[in-house]
Amino acid sequence: MTAFSLTHVDAAAGRTELHEALALTGAEISCNLLPAGAAVPFVHSHRKNEEIYLVLEGKGQVWVDGEVHDLAAGDCFRIGTGAGRAIHAASDSALRFVCIQVREGSLEGYTMTDADVCTPENGPSWLA
Ligand code: ZN
Repeated sequence: MTAFSLTHVDAAAGRTELHEALALTGAEISCNLLPAGAAVPFVHSHRKNEEIYLVLEGKGQVWVDGEVHDLAAGDCFRIGTGAGRAIHAASDSALRFVCIQVREGSLEGYTMTDADVCTPENGPSWLA
């Protein structure tokens, strides 16, 4: 497996899953666009994965185990395992969001607790 994979997401697509396109091994990431008034037509929960949602544009609401939360661009939220969820766009606004699924409780290091600063011989020209 190569260390780099790249794909392009059609901004007009309703839903694009990146798991296969990027050969992801630890997460599923989907890019989603619900038109104004549209909803994901079911409630679902996850057994092992938590979901992190990043609202990029628009307005809507998410229902989580009976509670409704208003959403707007810039909102980020997490839903843990077992909780039922359903999301919809506002009647007058599309809702664009990214959803990241990762194994709940799997994070062992991040940012500088997982990163090593490297000094390769042929590094990027903009760092020369
Ligand atoms: Zn889900």
